[in-house]
Amino acid sequence: MSDNTLPVIEGLAGLIDPDTVVERLWTGAIWSEGPVWIPDLRAVRWSDIHNNRILQFHADDGSTVVYSDNAEFTNGRTLDRQGRVIQCSHGRRRVERDHDDEITAIVETWNGVQFNSPNDVVVARDGAIWFTDPAYGISIAVEGHPGEREYRDQYVFCHDETTGITRPVILDVEAPNGLAFSPDESILYVADSSGSGSGIHPGVGNRHIRAYDLIDGRCKNGRTVITIEDGVPDGLRVDTDGNIWTSTKYGVGVYDPTGRELGVIRLPETTANLCFGGPDGTDVYITASSSLYRVRTRARDAATA
Ligand code: MG
Repeated sequence: MSDNTLPVIEGLAGLIDPDTVVERLWTGAIWSEGPVWIPDLRAVRWSDIHNNRILQFHADDGSTVVYSDNAEFTNGRTLDRQGRVIQCSHGRRRVERDHDDEITAIVETWNGVQFNSPNDVVVARDGAIWFTDPAYGISIAVEGHPGEREYRDQYVFCHDETTGITRPVILDVEAPNGLAFSPDESILYVADSSGSGSGIHPGVGNRHIRAYDLIDGRCKNGRTVITIEDGVPDGLRVDTDGNIWTSTKYGVGVYDPTGRELGVIRLPETTANLCFGGPDGTDVYITASSSLYRVRTRARDAATA
């Protein structure tokens, strides 16, 4: 990191103290994605997709270890209501659980066909698992294994583990990527990263975040609430005030619930995702290309509050 590319916090008064320093905790990955804070371990686990491995940063001693070096190209992850890790696997084209040293499938088919390459996942308060299914893991060699889009599109799905029922819930986002609920779960936000220049339609597509009203389990009234000027949105989180924290090319952009930009955590690397964590849940861990960053804030994740 050269001097002219040091992290800079712009705006965000009230959310981050003005004298806060962004820490680079570790570097050495190729494409860092899918972070989750695991309270029992006091650690952040994340994917280094192109190296096909999973890394883990331990906050107590600052160490980072390789958690798995044959990870079948995992991407986004979250915790279920019991605190167990749920992750997306591009390689296995499924959503799975990693618990007690065992990886088990949660959902791998819909209507008799495989998913594309599940990318990111959230768990609602009722335990339902909502995930996005763009095609990056089957269309980009370093992101997984080459494959066909078996249902010929890219949807957001909701899977109910109790009934085993999987439903497509959003069909009109070109390349659905990060997703998160508003604090009261009345709105689902979904990033469309189809304008990234990679994927199935290079050079075209969108760079925005869509919002949907959740009405009786269905996603209604889809509208674009945030458009990224430079880069595309990827992973995103919503804090307890409803602010949307999204990764993008230049770091993390933070927007209020109406889509007004509040400020930026500007990083020297293209940024894929973030999560809240730390002892009181107010540290933001950011996965940005080769590195894991941390910035201490006054916000906390609505999903775990
Ligand atoms: Mg993603």
